[in-house]
Amino acid sequence: MTDSLAGGPSLPQERRLVTEIPGPGSLERLDRKKAHVADGVGTMLPVFVVAAGGGVIVDVDGNSLIDLGSGIAVASVGNAAPSVVRNVQEQVAAFTHTCFMITPYDGYVDVCAALGELTPGDHAKKSALFNSGAEAVENAVKVARVATGRDAVAVFDHAYHGRTNLTMAMTAKNMPYKQGFGPFAGEVYRAPMSYPFRDGLTGEQAATRAIDVLDKQVGASNLACVVIEPIQGEGGFVVPAPGFLPAIAAWCTANDVVFIADEIQSGFCRTGDWFASDFEGVVPDLVTTAKGIAGGLPLAGVTGRADLMDSVHVGGLGGTYGGNPVACAAALGAIDEMRTHDLVGRAREIGTLMEGRLRTLAADHPVIADIRGRGAMMAIELCAPGTANPDPVRTAAVSAYCHQHGIVTLTCGTWGNVFRFLPPLSISDGLLHEGFDVVAEAFAATA
Ligand SMILES: *Cc1c(COP(=O)(O)O)cnc(C)c1O
Repeated sequence: MTDSLAGGPSLPQERRLVTEIPGPGSLERLDRKKAHVADGVGTMLPVFVVAAGGGVIVDVDGNSLIDLGSGIAVASVGNAAPSVVRNVQEQVAAFTHTCFMITPYDGYVDVCAALGELTPGDHAKKSALFNSGAEAVENAVKVARVATGRDAVAVFDHAYHGRTNLTMAMTAKNMPYKQGFGPFAGEVYRAPMSYPFRDGLTGEQAATRAIDVLDKQVGASNLACVVIEPIQGEGGFVVPAPGFLPAIAAWCTANDVVFIADEIQSGFCRTGDWFASDFEGVVPDLVTTAKGIAGGLPLAGVTGRADLMDSVHVGGLGGTYGGNPVACAAALGAIDEMRTHDLVGRAREIGTLMEGRLRTLAADHPVIADIRGRGAMMAIELCAPGTANPDPVRTAAVSAYCHQHGIVTLTCGTWGNVFRFLPPLSISDGLLHEGFDVVAEAFAATA
């Protein structure tokens, strides 16, 4: 079964286990990985993949796993989605690279135009393209600093913004992202996040608390930007209480601080809106995008107010590969897929299905202390029953059971006690139900 298979939605949409997980073919390859790949690059569910599509991932041993992770909210349109494959094949045969900063091409401009249309707000917008989410965040900060002439960057508890030096400084969690990698970039300040399960505050109260920290400990006149994930990703799918984001955004506007929404995980239909900011009608000054934008190819963007974006001198933004033509073709295919298959609507349906399953599960298992998220970005937080004491041990046990039984599940959270569900929006209801049947078995088996 090691022959390459055609992937995409025509793969049999089934969970099929023909060996242990990982199977012998994967175990053999894990030895090669151990010999050649740096140990710092971990693998969470070490089956080696030969094909994927719809809602499944097929490994070298012929196992077919149900995908509830989309490669961390990247393959939202599904792996090897037809319009992504077609666009990439056409582009790769035409030309693979010129460097947009040397000789431009339409795909880059088309993606920027689409970003301007799709991101929140109908003001004049411009974009710049990069390779990774971290690079987009770095560049959004560069734009904010030039536009304001200020240095300070505010971020929040539980934030995740990437693994480069500046974005490590902006990321909250030490292990594994920061441990030993300092010294970190300066002028990064952290404010308390709205975390309804843990702080019990309304959005307004939590915003007042955060703004007080920024006012008193940093000073609004020193702040270039406030960077926030409208729904936090790695930090635990923390959904701020209603009113929090609008209050922070309004404070930024009143103080000429650039409000940057990091929509890298929450964007592109994931939450049942094009962007998570849309839910409360928040219009950020700048939006960072990556992950779900290009059906799996590496692409990222900074999109925002034209006056801010244009404050940077010519040559100040860019990079060798940023907005690579193949990645842009993939993004245009992915966006086409999202539009023609109403993936915003599909994300809402998936959200309703998942929330129903999780509520039923929580009724039977008091270790599930909180259910949160929106659309196809849902999570459960596990705590010792009746408390808010994180239970990462049970989380790991449930996770291991799911993996051994052919379900790709991801965990997250500052305490490692959150299960996050990010299925591809191309998954069927049947597979989703089967996936959650196994999650339920996992809770029962580890009780
Ligand atoms: C993944 C992520 C990043 C970093 O993106 P990379 O492509 O891994 O550099 C930044 N912000 C958020 C919210 C993310 O989820």
